[in-house]
Amino acid sequence: MKERPAMAVFLSCDQLPAVLAASAERGPTWVAAGRGEDSGFIPYRPGLCLDREAGPTRRTLKEVFLPRAEVLFGYETVDGVPRLHPAAPSDLPRVIFGVRPCDARALALLDPVFEEPPHVDGLWAGRRQAATLVGLGCDRPGPACFCPAAGGDPLGEEGLDVLMVPVDGGYLVRPLTERGRAWTEPLGLPPARPEQLAAAEAVADRARERLAGGAPVDLQATLASGFEHSLWDRLHERCLGCAACTYLCPTCHCFDVGDEDGRRWRRWDSCMFPTFTLHASGHNPRTSGKERMRQRLMHKFCYYPERRGRPACVGCGRCVEICPANVDLRSVLEQLKGVRA
Ligand code: SF4
Ligand code: SF4
Repeated sequence: MKERPAMAVFLSCDQLPAVLAASAERGPTWVAAGRGEDSGFIPYRPGLCLDREAGPTRRTLKEVFLPRAEVLFGYETVDGVPRLHPAAPSDLPRVIFGVRPCDARALALLDPVFEEPPHVDGLWAGRRQAATLVGLGCDRPGPACFCPAAGGDPLGEEGLDVLMVPVDGGYLVRPLTERGRAWTEPLGLPPARPEQLAAAEAVADRARERLAGGAPVDLQATLASGFEHSLWDRLHERCLGCAACTYLCPTCHCFDVGDEDGRRWRRWDSCMFPTFTLHASGHNPRTSGKERMRQRLMHKFCYYPERRGRPACVGCGRCVEICPANVDLRSVLEQLKGVRA
């Protein structure tokens, strides 16, 4: 889609409910809603509004495009002839409102996984093509966030169609793609004033300042030669193998496929479970917590960058916040800096 330079407009807090209602009239609109553990993306209903104080949602945008469980297709045999029934995706969101830059970037990292020809996942691709992502820049990054270290930015634009920056009294709204422009223009919002543009810059500067430091994620060469390092013997010791980190990670995307009652299902799975690699023969190449933790980290910070040129982590910090054993990815990565064989 051909891009044109974006002109920023201003959306006041008072106008926001009407803008959401108007968006929902034009097509299914989902909104980042809730706070803390119960937050995620849900379909718009009258009265639902964006909570700009809430911070990133606990549940990620990933589950809108890769649901936790879904039917891939149905099948039956009629008069001895097998028939397939393709899945008909329902409740496709057209607009997703309040997407944090790290979540949009995570989708951009997953696109080549699900859409690399000739293996295009039709369900993923259909949802992606239908969606307009309206982003919400982070003016107050959380204590576990480290997006700049992972190559992102609290006001990053990658993967978004529109970026909204919270400023006093409202939002600076900048369309980034033709799709974003098609969503923004009918709203008839006034052009942003110079002081509002300056306020948005100040928001960005403050957010970046809070995120200084972070964690080393550029570890591909180090890890490539450190597979047998003794550090792996210790790194996993606190891990309970609960897989919460992978389920909440916006870039983890492993799933299992099974058949039930004439339907083929796909359900989220995790490399942190012992059965994930269990073969039908009974052989299991990853029997220990050490091997599973190593696989999770090697995949994100060595194998994925080898294939795609950047790590499969956006520094959202969710795995840090959710881990019941206080395994902090940032400190794990610090330790991994030295695993070179
Ligand atoms: S959330 Fe923590 S304890 Fe659970 S699998 Fe991940 S690292 Fe291990
Ligand atoms: S590994 Fe942790 S910090 Fe990185 S994207 Fe996944 S949940 Fe976020």
